[in-house]
Amino acid sequence: MDYLAQRKEMVKSQLENKGIHDPHVLAAFLKIPRHLFVPEDQKNLAYYDGPLPIGEHQTISQPYVVAYMTQALNLLPSDKILEIGTGSGYQAAILSLLVSEVYSVEIIASLGPRATAVLKELGLKNVHTRISDGSFGWPEEAPFDGIIVTAAPEKLPIKLVEQLKIGGKIIIPVALGPLNQSLRIYTKMIQEEAPGYRLEITELLPVLFVPMTGEIKD
Ligand code: SAH
Repeated sequence: MDYLAQRKEMVKSQLENKGIHDPHVLAAFLKIPRHLFVPEDQKNLAYYDGPLPIGEHQTISQPYVVAYMTQALNLLPSDKILEIGTGSGYQAAILSLLVSEVYSVEIIASLGPRATAVLKELGLKNVHTRISDGSFGWPEEAPFDGIIVTAAPEKLPIKLVEQLKIGGKIIIPVALGPLNQSLRIYTKMIQEEAPGYRLEITELLPVLFVPMTGEIKD
């Protein structure tokens, strides 16, 4: 099984041909071995164009969606990024090649060790993980330059906004109803006339993520 050849094909047909153009993002997808982030019995499907089960009723997202969200954040090498929903660790691994530090939070304790073992095996030392409820963010490490949420809440958790720098972006699938989620970017902007900040919302595309669980509902 030639995984590198499969990965090259994935990058060409699923990413480049569908509009992912950032050379740094494409290079990261060529480098990170997606098959290491899926269970043994899914390895032969690792480079297909879809999400895959990773246990605990959770999934590793479709490569295109991971790439699209990564590209949409307009990352800088100096960025410190928070991810909510470590899952397999794949999205965190991709981010780790593009930014300075990645903080990734997972709520299901049994998923943590597998993700951290693969990240360690790949030597990605700038990914920091912990098991906690991501609706609270990671306040000890705030503020972040960008936040990526890979599970769908019904509302944007306010704690995440508080932990974002001015000018930073949160990319998040917001659940509008069952099977109806909108991927959005919220940009935190300075409020001109009053103290505080305002949020600029950009609607991107319909998506389907697992629901965000946890305590804070808005
Ligand atoms: N980014 C992952 C895919 C994540 S699937 C990857 O690359 O593989 C969504 C993940 O979000 C699941 O593992 C789920 O357990 C987690 N999740 C759901 N609600 C959460 C919360 N409140 N805090 C942290 N993680 C959460």
